[in-house]
Amino acid sequence: MVELPPLGAHVSAAGGPAAAVGRGAALRCTALQIFVKSPSQWRARPLAEAEARAFREARAASGIGPVVAHAAYLINLAAAPGETLERSRAALADELGRGAALGLDALVLHPGAHLGAGVEAGLARVAASLDAVLAGVPAGAPRLLLEVTAGQGSVLGARLEELERIVALAASGERLGVCLDTCHLFAAGYPIDEEAGHEALLAELERRLGLARLGAIHLNDSTGPRGGRRDRHANIGEGQIGTAAFRRLLLDRRLRKVPMLLETPLGDDGEGHARDLATLRRLAGAG
Ligand SMILES: [Zn+2]
Repeated sequence: MVELPPLGAHVSAAGGPAAAVGRGAALRCTALQIFVKSPSQWRARPLAEAEARAFREARAASGIGPVVAHAAYLINLAAAPGETLERSRAALADELGRGAALGLDALVLHPGAHLGAGVEAGLARVAASLDAVLAGVPAGAPRLLLEVTAGQGSVLGARLEELERIVALAASGERLGVCLDTCHLFAAGYPIDEEAGHEALLAELERRLGLARLGAIHLNDSTGPRGGRRDRHANIGEGQIGTAAFRRLLLDRRLRKVPMLLETPLGDDGEGHARDLATLRRLAGAG
């Protein structure tokens, strides 16, 4: 029997975070990603201690391993000083607090968009924001993972050197990890559809950031072409990446402990993740 990395999907937390555990268990997930609040709103009511406890108990009973959260899309740590920046920092601190109450392993965050200020200025703003937020967050909070992006518009983080730069600029750099996303990497131009591209990516990741920083990988096929800079996720095998790239990631022994999570379309019947998980297990010979 092939031993797979922790494998799962982003599941809905509608009805409370404990309900997400049930959804993950039904999919035979061994890792999960959730939102700890609505991803398209700045504010949410506080997480009740009873809700957090219900989640922790359900998770412990389920046998599900790593659970990560994905931060709200509104957050822009590279915004110019002003209301959006203040709200972004406050929202990130709030999400880290929720994640700590739930006992989550990590919080995935898009680095931000410089909105015309320029890449270097944007990266410096992100680093300063991370320092400001993490200064008030206890050490037991989830690890913050900076996600590689597709590079659309002025979005930062489409190159590993940009994530490396943020980590170098931030005084809190030691506390930062990274999250890869196959769709974003491919859209940003990384040739992960080729064997040599897979090897080059891991070598670059080790050189720039260290493999120990890799806290999660999002497994998504890409609707758009390599280098197209479009963040459009497709179901596994139905986009332009091809299934070999996913097989390489699942079977790479260096990634055996890294949670791998689907963020693919659910489809009209809602079974997209079930089909994609079956595809991934079959690709890895663990069907
Ligand atoms: Zn992603």
